[in-house]
Amino acid sequence: MAAIYLDYAATTPVAPEVVEQLCDCLGHEPGNPASSGHAYGRAAQARVEDARADVASVINADPREIVFTSGATEANNLAIQGAARFRAGQGRHIVVGATEHMAVLETVRALEFSGFQVSQVAAADDGRILPEAVTAALRADTILVAVMHANNETGVINDIAAIGACARRHGALMHVDAAQTVGKLALDVQGLDADLVALSAHKNHGPKGVGALWVRRRPRVRLTPLMYGGGHERGLRAGTLATHQIVGMAVALASAEQRRNADWSHAEGLGERLRERLAAVADWYENAAAAPRLPGIRSIGFAGIDGVSLATALADEVALSTGSACTTGSTEPSHVLRAMGQDAATAAQAVRLSWGRYTTPEEIDRAAMAIATVVNRMRAAEVNTTAS
Ligand SMILES: *Cc1c(COP(=O)(O)O)cnc(C)c1O
Repeated sequence: MAAIYLDYAATTPVAPEVVEQLCDCLGHEPGNPASSGHAYGRAAQARVEDARADVASVINADPREIVFTSGATEANNLAIQGAARFRAGQGRHIVVGATEHMAVLETVRALEFSGFQVSQVAAADDGRILPEAVTAALRADTILVAVMHANNETGVINDIAAIGACARRHGALMHVDAAQTVGKLALDVQGLDADLVALSAHKNHGPKGVGALWVRRRPRVRLTPLMYGGGHERGLRAGTLATHQIVGMAVALASAEQRRNADWSHAEGLGERLRERLAAVADWYENAAAAPRLPGIRSIGFAGIDGVSLATALADEVALSTGSACTTGSTEPSHVLRAMGQDAATAAQAVRLSWGRYTTPEEIDRAAMAIATVVNRMRAAEVNTTAS
């Protein structure tokens, strides 16, 4: 039997309606959206513009504010490098949450090598980046604040409205990585003090390799592009548009937005079920349990059990991930858990379970059973080794 897939925070199964429309576009539309001189090009352009309008409407944006990219990694890079380079004359200080995705942390680290200064805001004990902590990090030369909407390891949801208000009051730009939340949490960019928002398709049943950056028009946010070429995407992202990927993203996000409440309660129900099923196991805990969280992501630890060893022992039965990110070949305990004050040994116990639309209650039951068996076996082996 195939392993139960509980790694939705890494990527999600592509929805059937997305596969259908993506393949249809890939198989039947030969035109380049930039070839406006003939009908093939204009048809492709129409597909892209329809998709742009659909993606924009999910976050209540103007379609002209959407820049298609290869994913949220590129969108984060374009937002942060682009804003920093454009505004370097006004200041060279950037504030980021310490729990950000590597696509943000590594980007600001690279900027440090070209003369920018970066302050990382530690998380509160519950995992949230608090507005008052962000405010305390602001300086006269702060040009940009980047805090994610929801965290990909713990599911913790930040109050980006309050944090954005702090940045705005200070005259700094606000960037939000919404890769985990678009189509899951209501996001209305008009009512939000943010200037840039990164989106991804594949965390919410779209294809991998496509995303978008929302760039505010009023007041206009100007960026220095990462790449130069044919002036696509209003000069912000050169390169032939991946028409089929973009169509797939639009279908995925529009359908996620429609099913938002149903998907949310489904994930919530499965989470409660998992807790009940794991009640039989001794000494386990949820990380960031006190914070508002996405219902489909749980970081949990079993006392005395190393997360990587547990994930490895379970791999044939349950596909999950550890809280740790592999940095330059060495596995270090999750920077997210460390940023909320956990010591390295506790952080190393974490595993991340994440589920969603296509996960069934039976799969949760089987996964919980497998986890309980493996945890008990590992603990028994530990006792035996210590005794001998
Ligand atoms: C997955 C993810 C990214 C990267 O998105 P890609 O589209 O895979 O490049 C960035 N930020 C967060 C929070 C993510 O979960």
